[in-house]
Amino acid sequence: MSEKKQDAFENARSQIKKAYDIMNTDNFQEWFLELISVPKRIIELQIPLQMDDGSFKIFPAFRAQHNDARGPFKGGIRFHPDVSRNEVKALSTWMTMKCAVIDIPLGGGKWGIIVNPKELSIRELERLSRAYVQALYKYLWPKTDVPAPDVNTTPQIMAWMMDEYSKLVWEYTPGSFTGKPLSSGGSAGRGQATAQWGVYVLDKILELRNDSIKGKTLCLQGAGNAGLTMAKLMVEKWIKVIWISDSGGGIYNKEWLDIEEISKLKQNKKSVTDYTWDAEKLDAKEVLYKECDVLIPAALENQITGDNASKVQAKLIMELANGPITPEADEILAQKGIDIIPDILANAGWVMVSYFEWVQNDQNFYWTAEDIQEKLKNRILQSAENVFDRAQENKTTYRVWAFIVALERIHAAMKDRGEL
Ligand code: NAD
Repeated sequence: MSEKKQDAFENARSQIKKAYDIMNTDNFQEWFLELISVPKRIIELQIPLQMDDGSFKIFPAFRAQHNDARGPFKGGIRFHPDVSRNEVKALSTWMTMKCAVIDIPLGGGKWGIIVNPKELSIRELERLSRAYVQALYKYLWPKTDVPAPDVNTTPQIMAWMMDEYSKLVWEYTPGSFTGKPLSSGGSAGRGQATAQWGVYVLDKILELRNDSIKGKTLCLQGAGNAGLTMAKLMVEKWIKVIWISDSGGGIYNKEWLDIEEISKLKQNKKSVTDYTWDAEKLDAKEVLYKECDVLIPAALENQITGDNASKVQAKLIMELANGPITPEADEILAQKGIDIIPDILANAGWVMVSYFEWVQNDQNFYWTAEDIQEKLKNRILQSAENVFDRAQENKTTYRVWAFIVALERIHAAMKDRGEL
């Protein structure tokens, strides 16, 4: 297990502890902190798979079910060679906090399989997806644990998994997985949900700070599903994207970068560094240190740490990735006066639409893309205002208040249910 992944879980625990130490816990059960700092259950599996050439491989996998006091465990499935037990634990913890801060009746979970899906054929990928459901289906149910896509998992994989689950339980059960294609009970408005929500959050927080999104300069780390889609929507709001990086490197133009051109490169599986228009090419990490109004890390965990936080020059950071800033870096950035809109608030759009999908599957009645947009916008305005107002009143960071709002709601549910 790599140090980096181990840190992600320690980071999540430390964020909880920091909020807990500040909040009013007079009416809290003393063992709440201990309980909420670990997942309720972790399932570890070895999944044997017959490859197309007849050989066998074993793929280790994890499911962390962190907390279900407010509703079924909810969280994505990650297929990645760097998945680890602790990474899955961290991501499941953040899911519990995220669902609570945006006030949806769901808890937190996460799945991970140690695999590089790019090395599998499409048939192998389908067999692996189905094998995972066969191994775990007794722990799933739309009212118990509802997975969704995450890094390297797709609507197609969710459709296979839902199909496998439905066969195993002898009942068509679209609500067993969310993030499915529209043909299999998916929701309208899902494709852009994370990015759209991120734009609403940034717009609202800037408005509450008596500022405006228009004309701001943006540096973006990560040109994937979340980051690039958001950049496109930001440009429509008259934000100037001046820096973009992906794992291959970064590009910079102090006036603007053409997002449509960069999207075409990414669709053709190229790097942003293949951009042929006027731009300076630099090391990927440099994007974090450039002067800009807003910096959006949208790639991986632990990108801004105690070692490099002092080099950050952005005025505001919004975390689209999960866990890109460590607690040590949080302290340094706070001292520098750089505010952070935290991941559990900023990237919650997809889980909000997952929730809408799950509700639609349950009622077997589907909403239009316009219905989804309207519901999404209303929910974000409430969540962002709530965190902003309390952070302002109490002169502390958005992250601390986002965690406090979440912890208060989770504690209330656990107490009322008699779990505490
Ligand atoms: P993705 O795989 O589509 O994109 C990741 C991007 O990051 C790629 O462009 C990759 O090249 C880039 N990258 C990797 N290492 C890098 C590095 N060192 N420097 C710069 N760029 C680097 O993944 P995604 O779905 O866009 O997810 C990105 C992050 O956002 C993850 O933390 C994920 O958990 C989080 N997130 C995504 C969604 C969503 O709807 N996609 C929702 C919530 C949270």
